[in-house]
Amino acid sequence: MVNETNFRKTGLISERDLKRLSLLPSKRRLAEGPCVIIECVERIPCDPCVSACPRKAIEIEGSLIEIPRVDFSRCLGCLLCIPKCPGLCIFVVHKNYTEDSSLVSLPYEFLINFSEGEEVLAQDRGGRVVCRGKIEKIIQRPSFDQTAIIQVKVPKRFFMRVRGFRLLRKRR
Ligand code: SF4
Ligand code: SF4
Repeated sequence: MVNETNFRKTGLISERDLKRLSLLPSKRRLAEGPCVIIECVERIPCDPCVSACPRKAIEIEGSLIEIPRVDFSRCLGCLLCIPKCPGLCIFVVHKNYTEDSSLVSLPYEFLINFSEGEEVLAQDRGGRVVCRGKIEKIIQRPSFDQTAIIQVKVPKRFFMRVRGFRLLRKRR
């Protein structure tokens, strides 16, 4: 059973909520390489994430409505689970992408009218701009259906806050 946490009041999940619910990897695991973060906290009948993972890192114990849990030691950060989530709540973070930047991989279901290398405004879970970022890679595959994966490079201190972006320039 999910404890009542702040997101019930705000409508937005926070890093603190995720921590309270034991949904975050350890600092050590985050330092090791790309790692999934699943921000799925509602008890809904859903489980495509479980079968999406070739490493069997995602598990839903007991009833289908329980929230998914990750065995972070199994996750390789391969990204495959991201486009399979209908709730768009799976991310992969690579904290130590470079010395001073992190890479956040996000699901994206809108029209892609931007390019790799483009500068963007990186947003938090509530859509607030937290920093500038750069579109590092756009990944689209037929098996992803209509969901792309966008990898955004951001200053390292924001990697647990950035969960979206918007363009600096007006859309064409
Ligand atoms: S990123 Fe890859 S290895 Fe990690 S949980 Fe998702 S599918 Fe599994
Ligand atoms: S597929 Fe997404 S919404 Fe469904 S249980 Fe998994 S993480 Fe939650």
